[in-house]
Amino acid sequence: MTIGILGGGQLGYMLALAGYPLDFHFRFLDPSPQAPVGRIAPRVTADYGDFEALDKFAHGLALVTYEFENVPVETVQHLAQKLPVYPSPQALEAAQDRLREKTLFQKLDIPTTEFALVDSKPALERATSKIGLPAVLKTRRLGYDGKGQWVLRSPADIEKLAKEFPATPLILEKFVSFARELSILAVRGRSGETAFYPLVENHHRGGILRLSLAPAPRLIPALQHEAEDLARRILGALDYVGVLTVELFELNGHLQANEIAPRVHNSGHWSIEGAVTSQFENHLRAVSGLPLGEARVTGHSAMLNLIGELPEAAELLAVGDAHLHVYGKALRPGRKVGHVTVRAESPEELSRRVKNLPAFFQREEFCLQYATSAN
Ligand code: AMP
Repeated sequence: MTIGILGGGQLGYMLALAGYPLDFHFRFLDPSPQAPVGRIAPRVTADYGDFEALDKFAHGLALVTYEFENVPVETVQHLAQKLPVYPSPQALEAAQDRLREKTLFQKLDIPTTEFALVDSKPALERATSKIGLPAVLKTRRLGYDGKGQWVLRSPADIEKLAKEFPATPLILEKFVSFARELSILAVRGRSGETAFYPLVENHHRGGILRLSLAPAPRLIPALQHEAEDLARRILGALDYVGVLTVELFELNGHLQANEIAPRVHNSGHWSIEGAVTSQFENHLRAVSGLPLGEARVTGHSAMLNLIGELPEAAELLAVGDAHLHVYGKALRPGRKVGHVTVRAESPEELSRRVKNLPAFFQREEFCLQYATSAN
């Protein structure tokens, strides 16, 4: 069976690596001739809007999925007329627009951040007087890694923004003083079967994920239950097939949904070594109609992103249960070029291992913070 994947970045790369043992073949479509999957699978280089190229790409495929949520909905709708596409165009549409996401959360009774729509400078003033400061202004669409976001702490920040007001639909959210950021990865198969990974604790810097801890330290069953319950409602409402990620804030011992990603996710990379079945394998099992694999963890994992540069492999791999993943992308500042997962039998042992990582990692303050706060 050949599976078509829209987007040829590292998520697609790891999907293919997980799929080869299951006897799947892959074909990718990406506008960039440099997409990393070119190393391991046939790739069509074309724009997502090039329907002729899409038809050629689709020829002979069993189904299509995607690794990139900013694929135009029209692309996915076009393909869905010819062959199964999972997750559905409807799920992609819901996840592409922050207003639709928030409306979905509200409809499903899932707590989320207070928000208001903003489409002009006067609307921003009205929204800030309703919601108060501090607040976060976000583009409704196409934001990633903290791009398209402005934290407004004072009227001066609003003034500053007013001079170069973003000419795109926006949403203003109340600034949440969360205790921590968490995510849950959920998966639903074609038959409606579901599986849930444990909540993961995520640390960002400069809008980019740096460190994920799985399971989240000090995770209590009630919080996991709350996360599974809200994820299950979203899966059901969207008649979802595949891996879905829900990004969450923990506040006063409860969860608030921030956003969803209709795909495998950076905060699930640890599952390659740290879970019985990785998020990548489970996504493929789900979309191809196979039984889902267990999402149970096999220990405690820390996943560290490699941003813009790579460590010395020999030095890193000398650390017990440390695993290196290099994506084959050109090294550029701010770009995710690989990740490392460190696994251990206990949180204490994991913390010790993270502390003992080579000097390359100790420049990352989260490493040091984690090593002191985990116990
Ligand atoms: P997002 O693109 O919505 O995932 O936001 C990127 C990051 O900005 C999040 O991971 C949070 O660290 C931060 N952030 C987003 N929304 C809020 C908010 N309403 N209050 C506080 N921090 C936020």
